[in-house]
Amino acid sequence: MGKKTRLEWAEIRNRQKNAIERAAEVLGALRMTAAPIDPLAVAASEKPLLVAVGADFRDRFDGQLEYHRANNRFLLFYNTKYDAYAPAGAHHARTRFSVAHELGHYFIEPHRAFLRRTGKFHPSRGEFLSDRAIETEADAFAAGLLMPASLLAPRVNEGEMSFADIERWAQEFETSMTSMARRAVELSHFPCALIGVREGRVAFSFHSQAMIDGGCYPRPRGSDLPPDARSKWQAFVDGNLSDGKGQAFAGAWCQTYDSDRAAEAPVYEYYRGVPSTQTLLILLSVPEEELFPDEDD
Ligand SMILES: [Zn+2]
Repeated sequence: MGKKTRLEWAEIRNRQKNAIERAAEVLGALRMTAAPIDPLAVAASEKPLLVAVGADFRDRFDGQLEYHRANNRFLLFYNTKYDAYAPAGAHHARTRFSVAHELGHYFIEPHRAFLRRTGKFHPSRGEFLSDRAIETEADAFAAGLLMPASLLAPRVNEGEMSFADIERWAQEFETSMTSMARRAVELSHFPCALIGVREGRVAFSFHSQAMIDGGCYPRPRGSDLPPDARSKWQAFVDGNLSDGKGQAFAGAWCQTYDSDRAAEAPVYEYYRGVPSTQTLLILLSVPEEELFPDEDD
């Protein structure tokens, strides 16, 4: 697994930014301005060119978008199997995210052009785990659609955020804890990051712009954990993660390239287990003055 250069990070972020802006544009045109956003209402607004079809597709896929040339129609299939765990009549957060992800393939112009040529994408599944640029873009669109900056950013930047805040927002916007944590970090003006740990290793990391500007870049997927985090992971696996806090240096969690200041900055860790996806979430926060010592506020 190769390390990414700073230029590659910039390119990935730029593509995600465009996808999120596209989602904001779609919401703006539909005048959808309140949480929770209903992705199926967004799909319905594109009838008859787009038709959404929900059913229990078991383990075949979470969502799939097809283009049928004969009748010039896009069919958006979404798996309702997770709805069994949602309140009656409601869609589970995963179902909503799948629909929003497929809408990304529909609304992002190069994706749509590709679909018109080829008929369908490979089925997609899960959140934020695909390496392929196209899936990452559709995920970014989905996050932008379900958690618009205009609604969420003011809440996120009110003060220091905790997992209790993130949980409250996840309920309000009807998203998973993990998607909300990721999006909150993305919208934060403060140096912070979200690390997801699966099978004892870093499965994903998202860093706020301030964290990147301060010289702390994500480590590659599959990276080892710092020793203290390893014992937290073990406690989570054993079902007794009680101490939800920790502390380290940014160099333990981030690629800091040639910046000693970034590598030696203290980072505060907050742990939250998500048993349903066997994921341990870690919210990292670095005091602003440690990364930007010369700036007066
Ligand atoms: Zn996809």
